Amino acid sequence: MAFRHSRAATRLFAGYLLLLVLQSAAWCRAAHAGSGPTLKIEVDARDLPRRLLHSRIQIPCQSGKLKLWYPKWVPGTHGPYGPVQNVGGLRIQSSDGKPLKWQRDELELFRIECDVPDGVREVTVLLDTICNESADHAAGYLSFGNNLVGIINWGTCVMYPEGFPCDDIEANASLRLPAKWQLATALKTENTKNGLTTFKTVALTDLVDCPLIAGLHLRTISLETGSYPPAWLDVVSESPTALELSPKVIDIYSRVVREAGKLTGICHYPDYHFLVTCSDDLGYLGLEHLTSSLNGVRERDLIEDARRKGWVANLLPHEYIHSWCGKYRRPAGMCTPDLHTPMKTRLLWVYEGLAEYLGEVLMVRSGLLDLTEFRERLGSTIRSLSHHEGRRWRSLEDTGTASYVLRAGSPNWSGLRRDQDYYFEGMLVWLEADAIIRERTNGKKSLDDFCRKFLGGNLTTAKVSPYELPEIVKDLQELTEIDWESFLLKRVAQPLDELPLEVVSRCGYKIQYSDRLPSEQMSRQNRDAEGVSALDSIGLSFGGDGAVIEIMRGGIGDRAGFAHGMKVIGVNTKTFSRQRLLDALAQSVKRHQIEFLVIEGEDFRALVLEYSGGPRYLEIVRDPTKPDLLAEILKPAADRTKSAPATKPEPNSSLNSPPKGYVCYKTALPIQIDGRLDDEAWGRAPWTDPFVDILGAAGPAPRFQTRARMLWDDTYLYVGALLEEPHVWATLTQHDSVIFKDNDFEIFIDPDGDNHEYYEIEINALNTEWDLFLKKPYRDGGPAINEWEIPGLKTAVHVSGTLNDPSDSDTAWSIEFAIPWKSLAEHAHRHTPPNDGDQWRINFSRVEWRHAISGGKYHKILNTPEDNWVWSPQGKVDMHRPERWGYLQFSMAESAPVAYRVDPAALTRDRIMQIYYSQKAFFEQNKKWATSLADLKLSAAQALPAHTTSLRLTPEGYEAAITSVNSSTSIEIWTIHQDSRIGHRIQSPQANSPDSTSQSAPK
Ligand SMILES: [Zn+2]
Repeated sequence: MAFRHSRAATRLFAGYLLLLVLQSAAWCRAAHAGSGPTLKIEVDARDLPRRLLHSRIQIPCQSGKLKLWYPKWVPGTHGPYGPVQNVGGLRIQSSDGKPLKWQRDELELFRIECDVPDGVREVTVLLDTICNESADHAAGYLSFGNNLVGIINWGTCVMYPEGFPCDDIEANASLRLPAKWQLATALKTENTKNGLTTFKTVALTDLVDCPLIAGLHLRTISLETGSYPPAWLDVVSESPTALELSPKVIDIYSRVVREAGKLTGICHYPDYHFLVTCSDDLGYLGLEHLTSSLNGVRERDLIEDARRKGWVANLLPHEYIHSWCGKYRRPAGMCTPDLHTPMKTRLLWVYEGLAEYLGEVLMVRSGLLDLTEFRERLGSTIRSLSHHEGRRWRSLEDTGTASYVLRAGSPNWSGLRRDQDYYFEGMLVWLEADAIIRERTNGKKSLDDFCRKFLGGNLTTAKVSPYELPEIVKDLQELTEIDWESFLLKRVAQPLDELPLEVVSRCGYKIQYSDRLPSEQMSRQNRDAEGVSALDSIGLSFGGDGAVIEIMRGGIGDRAGFAHGMKVIGVNTKTFSRQRLLDALAQSVKRHQIEFLVIEGEDFRALVLEYSGGPRYLEIVRDPTKPDLLAEILKPAADRTKSAPATKPEPNSSLNSPPKGYVCYKTALPIQIDGRLDDEAWGRAPWTDPFVDILGAAGPAPRFQTRARMLWDDTYLYVGALLEEPHVWATLTQHDSVIFKDNDFEIFIDPDGDNHEYYEIEINALNTEWDLFLKKPYRDGGPAINEWEIPGLKTAVHVSGTLNDPSDSDTAWSIEFAIPWKSLAEHAHRHTPPNDGDQWRINFSRVEWRHAISGGKYHKILNTPEDNWVWSPQGKVDMHRPERWGYLQFSMAESAPVAYRVDPAALTRDRIMQIYYSQKAFFEQNKKWATSLADLKLSAAQALPAHTTSLRLTPEGYEAAITSVNSSTSIEIWTIHQDSRIGHRIQSPQANSPDSTSQSAPK
């Protein structure tokens, strides 16, 4: 969970929370066989606006003693915080409606027992849950509601039988909401009938891990996740205005997802929901889950730039990275089989400390905060931690072990007790580890590499993967060899005299004291209601009303006898105000003292501090003698790729990007071909990157956005496209017209990637199609076979606006295609429908003409070339270069997190196409084919190591071959001929005649 500023008076510090689900190594979900009972859980939330939930839980049982649990050890809060005190009504009935007597375990208040009579096979538990109870230590886990917004945490309204791991208990949940409310959750809906939403059956563990937000005003925003699984930002608020996130903000949260993907490599969720309540009533909260996070902010926090800072900026990235760090990877001691077994939380400095570090890094890489703001935040973190002198008696690790008694603790002498320091001091440990790795490897390695291995790892069906410290040590050791175990244990496992500050110089900074008010205090300068921290000068901090909040042990204030419970009412003979205290600090240089009048209970007292040091605040500043590692660490992954020295030759020097890739998931849900991309199925298909100019980076940026998404089932390949367009118009109505004379959208498909025998479909806004088949690209003589038809092809266009009406402006047009596998099979030379993991070549093009309006009609402007916008850039204004098309990777998964696989032969394919184009140029100049590779003047930079390239003339032209020895038993040969057809075969070294082997389609 995100740590939370719990001392409302000053917000100088924070309390925190976080979250997790209960599963253990032994309970990895792959083994989940549903061997436990199935609970039918019906929650009636129609009273949620009145702060009540009513649930009805049907539990299969046998006669005899039935022991039931109310969830106690709540994932993510790291403590036994199940709100059992908020159970408002509990009744148990046998299946015939007879009440059964129950009794609470006197030593374990979350457990009850009842006697099930003979012959009864099922009991019904009726439960009322009282909501909106304040609980600083578990906010995010409770259920809340008012008349417009609600949060439902299933764990607050269920009971479950003892004796089964919660992974083995199935939950068949349904929910009734107040009229007209909408909901958002990572749970999948089975159906909605008469106001009752039934969810797909899941393990109880997962149900509790999937909170739900609901309300009258709810908006679901699809984030641009690139090649990563789909993600949504679901926002609910009492105010519709709070949902009006600007495209800039949506883009920032999209970047959070893409940067996290680049950091970890693999997502452990099929899709992800950022569930956000924007409500002054529900307030701040945050809790992590595997496939979603629950985030509570104030009403205007997401729409006002100035409010999306500090805790709010940190919240979503922090809870999100927990999907990897805390949910999927979890300390073994926190992997418990059910919701009542206690957890061992010693490693929270990893679970929360690493998540805090990565969340903050993502916050800057995505653009939520800039480098300067981050430095200030880091200074403030160090400033507050440096006063926690409790580190002299207890280790950092001990704050994790004792986490739940430190949560939302009293502010009195908190520095002496230590706070939940495993968050921020844990973060500093990870920042230091990152700096050490970068320092010792000259920037070649970083903690990002650790994250890819430790948090990303390999694709697996397990939902949780436990760890212990030795694994962390080993993974760090692989990056750079220092004694990581000693380093980590020194930082976390023993009491320390002072906060370790080597991290600051390692990052290229130093600590100094200045009389400038730190920016976070500066921003409250004119708000007297907020307090002031003078810990670095007089060892005290105060609330806005003068209450003494913190006293640094051994500081001047401590020695003068300041105590918690005191309130300052006068400073230097004037009434207390925040500004007067700041003035008194400044005047101390001349006055050599500060006089306080304090009230304690009913007694007044004067306290005089002998102090002449003036205002003093710790800050971190650049050390110009060292490299700025913070700037390196916080660079977005995209920028780093640009500046990194090229380790591999560019796949094609004429282009700055390799062909695009897209994972196409299989859908079990129907798609209605009506041109609207609103079918539930589409929600699981990520958008492609926005289209670019056909030339790639060398061309101008498209004037309007175009994106596509794809799915498949056993009958069809589905393509959906969304074309932003202020003027939707079209003229051609005849099938197989030359459609690109209108504004159009085009699909090109080469199933086997050999450059030959490919399909093309074009369509305009009137839904007029042109489908054709090309035996070869035009460059090699074509021809295009216009008569070729796609029987059973379904297409539909939807116009958001008006078609052919220049009097107004439009928004977009969208298209749905269902292309039957049967028709693609004809020249595919591949399995149709495809096998899991198969990659086909595909590209999309959009032709857009400039227009003028006259006589109430649209016209093309004469002699003006069209724009060509494409998904995978072609490098030339020529779609008929199939070698530049993108890769479409088919997956049997339904939007599971399947990684896109870069074609291992990509560089070989580029090299062989280079030979083809060089031969073509040679032929045009010399009217004959080159007989030696030397004549072709191939670029040395793109030579392939460990491959041999040969060239020979044939009766028709030539054959070039690139051969590599894969093992003692196989050599791999790629060939190309004068007609650009690519061949690929694997043969044994003994077969010395290439002609004796059979050609296989390129894969
Ligand atoms: Zn957390």
